[in-house]
Amino acid sequence: MTDTTAERIEAFIEQLRVPPGTEVDLEKDFDPGFRAGIAKKTNGIELLSVGIELLAEYQRRLAAEQTRGVLVCLQALDAGGKDGTIRHVMSGMSPQGVRVANFKVPSTEELDHDYLWRYARQLPRRGEIAIFNRSHYEEVLVVRVHPENLGRQRLPGAKRDGDVWARRYREINAWERYLAENGFRVVKLMLNLSKEEQRVRFLKRIDVPERNWKFSAADVRERAHWDAYQRAFSQMLSATSTPWAPWYVVPADRKWLARLCAAAVLAHTLIDIGPQYPRTSKADRQELAKAKKDLEKEAPEGAPADPYEASAAGKNRERRGKASRKASGKDGRKRQG
Ligand code: AMP
Ligand code: MG
Repeated sequence: MTDTTAERIEAFIEQLRVPPGTEVDLEKDFDPGFRAGIAKKTNGIELLSVGIELLAEYQRRLAAEQTRGVLVCLQALDAGGKDGTIRHVMSGMSPQGVRVANFKVPSTEELDHDYLWRYARQLPRRGEIAIFNRSHYEEVLVVRVHPENLGRQRLPGAKRDGDVWARRYREINAWERYLAENGFRVVKLMLNLSKEEQRVRFLKRIDVPERNWKFSAADVRERAHWDAYQRAFSQMLSATSTPWAPWYVVPADRKWLARLCAAAVLAHTLIDIGPQYPRTSKADRQELAKAKKDLEKEAPEGAPADPYEASAAGKNRERRGKASRKASGKDGRKRQG
């Protein structure tokens, strides 16, 4: 990981960030057709494959370290491309270290609790990346656009009065800050689709039999509330983009670009966390050396004592190890990371 790669990713995603403390108007300030400086689709797809490898390596380190966790929240209107984005971003990662949670209409059990309960239950463990396909932000989006949802949540009378949305923004910000302060980074992506592209994608779901299952008449009914959603999204972005968990608005009319943007934002977070493989202590190394000797003694007649070390891979590794110890000037001692 070179500094220039990190700087290039930072410059790329800065274009998508909602600056904390600013008032945004989604339709005016963010163009779903924005190219983010990527002129050609082929370039974008190449960058995406580099990004996916980078994510895979960082995910392995995050899992090995078992200290920090990452929560990725994906929000979008129907046909915004959440599923495809998840599929691509996760494609290089070990399934053991990633978890996807989908949030639908709340169950009766979920409605028996406070509104953040069901999201808290799906938070990542240390070392894990959890992806929320829809998230606690539905609580200020669909619940706001259709207030009958709020009725079902059975808040005590007084709690329903006043500005329930301003209160929820404050509660969500505080919850995310608590997570950040305890080692869990929250990455928030809003896939920003145009109304025309949504129409085209719905039609494709109707026209292509293999895609019929993705289409629901309810989605078309939701489309009628387009403007109300745009307002709810704008207010949400303005109120909940914070220094500890900023929002990124991803141009979603081009699927490949949306996937690249999502990968870049996640890569930026992981680079910033900088997870490291755990270093072995002197005692650990002594134990390893002893186990190595014991295993070497068990070598059958005619076999090399340590077949791995005897192989080309082992020789390369040994050479690299020697070079890096020489560069650090402290043979076998912990390097500054
Ligand atoms: P889908 O993700 O397309 O399978 O649909 C899930 C549906 O659940 C969407 O229509 C969401 O609006 C709805 N949904 C998700 N969270 C909530 C919530 N907290 N309250 C009400 N509806 C929700
Ligand atoms: Mg749907």
